[in-house]
Amino acid sequence: MPATRCARPPGLSDHGRCADHSGMTSSNRSNAALAARDLKHLWHPCTQMHDHGAAGTDPVPLLPIVAGEGAWLVDADGRRYLDGISSWWTNLFGHAHPRLAGALAEQAQRLEHVIFAGFTHEPAIALAEELVRVTPAPLQRVFLADNGSAAIEVALKMSFHYWLNQGRGEKTRFIALTGSYHGETLGALSVSDVALYRKTYAPLLLTPILAPSPDAYEAAPGESAEEVALRRLDELRTLLERHAHETCAVIVEPLVQCAGGMRMYHPRYLAGLRRLCDEFEVHFIADEIAVGFGRTGSLFACEQAQVSPDFMCLSKGLTGGFLPLSAVLTTEAVYAAFYAEYNAGKAFLHSHSYTGNPLACRVALETLAIFRDEPVLARNRELAAHLQQRLAPLREHPQVADVRQCGMIAAVELVADKRSRRPYPAEERRGLRVYLHALQRGALLRPLGNVIYFMPPYVVTTAEIDHLVDTALSGIERAVAD
Ligand SMILES: *Cc1c(COP(=O)(O)O)cnc(C)c1O
Repeated sequence: MPATRCARPPGLSDHGRCADHSGMTSSNRSNAALAARDLKHLWHPCTQMHDHGAAGTDPVPLLPIVAGEGAWLVDADGRRYLDGISSWWTNLFGHAHPRLAGALAEQAQRLEHVIFAGFTHEPAIALAEELVRVTPAPLQRVFLADNGSAAIEVALKMSFHYWLNQGRGEKTRFIALTGSYHGETLGALSVSDVALYRKTYAPLLLTPILAPSPDAYEAAPGESAEEVALRRLDELRTLLERHAHETCAVIVEPLVQCAGGMRMYHPRYLAGLRRLCDEFEVHFIADEIAVGFGRTGSLFACEQAQVSPDFMCLSKGLTGGFLPLSAVLTTEAVYAAFYAEYNAGKAFLHSHSYTGNPLACRVALETLAIFRDEPVLARNRELAAHLQQRLAPLREHPQVADVRQCGMIAAVELVADKRSRRPYPAEERRGLRVYLHALQRGALLRPLGNVIYFMPPYVVTTAEIDHLVDTALSGIERAVAD
């Protein structure tokens, strides 16, 4: 069906039905009809399908979206939702962005895909040039893959294989932080520490060495975020003294541990990590899949510590939220360890069928062009300041233990008891109440357990931020009511 759009730009008062959708609800393209068809055959990610019930409405609605416009999503019944989480952190400049859509359409008529071994194309070449230009200096090599988890697999395998090619095959392990999240494929899940996703599959996974996260929420009374970072670096040093000989790399999410509950930490941890990795001869893998492309205030989070990793993983915002694509950037030194006469057997023989997909590369290139042409980071600073100011009063709320923010990511931590910071039991699904409340009010907020967070597209207006915050405030009142 053609994407149906509301004729006028989305305002704050019209997140009910749009006039031009009236009459659609009785067709087989209504929310109810589409949800029923969906439930016959589809199986959705990160979902207990039972939550949708037989009709796709109870207790959690399954919402068919027919169009996106700026920061808004429109469902098949014409209801509008402000996308407060950038559709799983992918969207940067709004849905159906005309410039990205145009680039995609143009590329599709020229070359949709070609095998990327033995063949190349200008969208990938130009994208690699541009990624090297915008990332910290020693990163000069670009390996492409097609989603975030795949990028993590590439970085883990490359790091291991680098040491193997250097005659150090005893390096087979990885150090990850507590509370980390790096994706859902077995390798990426191995270096993740979110029990909800990991526990079930633990028997299948590699065992990482866990280093305590520098998460500032875990500060001792009176301890600053910077002091937590320094204390955690001491602990990391101790781990490296014991394990560096068998360790390929330390992998971290720079500045914000996103899926682990939007936990944030001081940049000094990254600066110290860089020094420790050099001292102990292990790689530093920066997973900037969620925090890259301006989310934390700088184009890349690592910039705030003025460090460059040995591997940087990018995805999500890389295509502005349009298409699955990921990139692993690394140094010329890593590349050189694989570069040898064929029979030396040192090549990195990793591939995905859609590696370097021209459509995705072309849209990524256009996304980077928007960063060049528009004052994105400066505008984000203003939006982030507004969000911060609007969230500040929540600190006083009796059920809020923490309000934290890093650029265009803000989070509110709900607790059963403010003094002891005792969390609500997960089974109470308090966050789900906020989610359901927000949908009724025309907003998409998708809490991580007891953490209500905001990660809107960069095209959001201050009035739209107000709508998100007001919705969250009333949602929190509902969620903590009994
Ligand atoms: C989302 C995410 C991933 C995984 O990316 P997918 O494209 O969902 O596989 C990895 N690391 C971080 C930090 C993420 O937020």
